[in-house]
Amino acid sequence: MKCEIIAVGTELLLGDIVNTNAQYISQRLPDLGIDVYYQVVVGDNLGRLIETIKLAGSRSDIIITTGGLGPTDDDITKLGLSKALGVEMRLDKPSLERIREQFKRYKTAMPIINERQAYVPDGSKAIENDNGTAPGTIGEYDNKIYIALPGPPKEMIPMFEEKVVPFLKNKSDHIIKSHTLKVIGIGEPAIQECLGKIITEQTNPTVALYAKDGEVQIRITAKTQDPYLADKKIEDIESRIRNILGADIYGRDEDTLESMVNQLLRERKKTIAFAESCTGGLISSRFTDIPDSSVSFLNGVVSYSNEAKINMLGVNRETINKYGAVSMETAMEMASGIKKISNTDIGMSITGIAGPAGGSETKPVGLCFIGIALDSGVESYSYIFSGNRLKIKWQASTKVLDILRR
Ligand code: ATP
Ligand code: MG
Repeated sequence: MKCEIIAVGTELLLGDIVNTNAQYISQRLPDLGIDVYYQVVVGDNLGRLIETIKLAGSRSDIIITTGGLGPTDDDITKLGLSKALGVEMRLDKPSLERIREQFKRYKTAMPIINERQAYVPDGSKAIENDNGTAPGTIGEYDNKIYIALPGPPKEMIPMFEEKVVPFLKNKSDHIIKSHTLKVIGIGEPAIQECLGKIITEQTNPTVALYAKDGEVQIRITAKTQDPYLADKKIEDIESRIRNILGADIYGRDEDTLESMVNQLLRERKKTIAFAESCTGGLISSRFTDIPDSSVSFLNGVVSYSNEAKINMLGVNRETINKYGAVSMETAMEMASGIKKISNTDIGMSITGIAGPAGGSETKPVGLCFIGIALDSGVESYSYIFSGNRLKIKWQASTKVLDILRR
């Protein structure tokens, strides 16, 4: 089953809004065994919309449009569908009743133009909209399925989940299952090289790489009629990949670096505190995204100025004067300081130059020192990250979490 998603709206074409509807639908359809072959965006122009729907009908089995179901002149999706399919528009009386009632409930008179929303292409059924006035439509013409959904995601998503998913559920004779392995510490080209034939010669399951926020995701996708077989195929490939990449794989599917670190700390019954300079609290923030992190995360300090490092963490003024605030020595004293004042098993610190200014030949922009204080002693590591300020901050926070995981 090949699906095509047509997002209708000039504001999408102009880049004023992002096409999250297509993203949402594309992510959900594989669970139903439906492949998305095309995503198209077309403006609010009747001629081009008809052309687009006709083209979609010539190459796809399921055509889903989003947007353009409102009552105004620029909402032309259902008209476009009826013209492309060569059918008339039909007044759907139950839809008209529902729209009237919705206006009654809000004690406002129904503008006459809202009647337009009750028209559907002849041969299509109206889909109730529980979160707005515009009904969607669903119809089969020449063995192809045409579905029209509203534009606002808060209307589109419930309609898709509650009305469209049950309809599409049994249309495909196979299912598509996929799992994602998450990798950190090794780049996409290096992974490509390591995995070699596992990527190039795999057809079912397929293996694909995506770089995302400083990490790489490896998606393994299997297509079969039997869910057990799909799991088995994915497991086989997954274990081959794990044998090659080992500890560089930090998690799977919903796992995040912070959730894995939190889990590890809990298992080992360790507590932690962070002293952050250049990351400005990002590490603490990421850590507290995990609901039960309070068991292991006890304290976070943003000691941005030298005085804060000295007064709050007990860093020696001489250390900063002699080696600088961005130095191995300062990082180590920050880590010991935060461990001491928080009374934790682990104290971690980071100090660095996030840029764009402030770098020098010996200490370039992107240079960061990470300190770790444990009961057994203090260590420090240095790294150079690249990119703009926000990228450097993100990579630095990721590195701290990655060190903790390993
Ligand atoms: P309305 O009754 O609100 O006019 P509609 O079904 O006619 O709904 P549009 O007019 O096309 O939908 O879009 C209304 C709003 O829905 C847009 O301003 C935008 O905020 C959101 N929207 C539309 N299409 C998309 C899309 N593809 N992805 C994300 N949001 C969208
Ligand atoms: Mg509209």
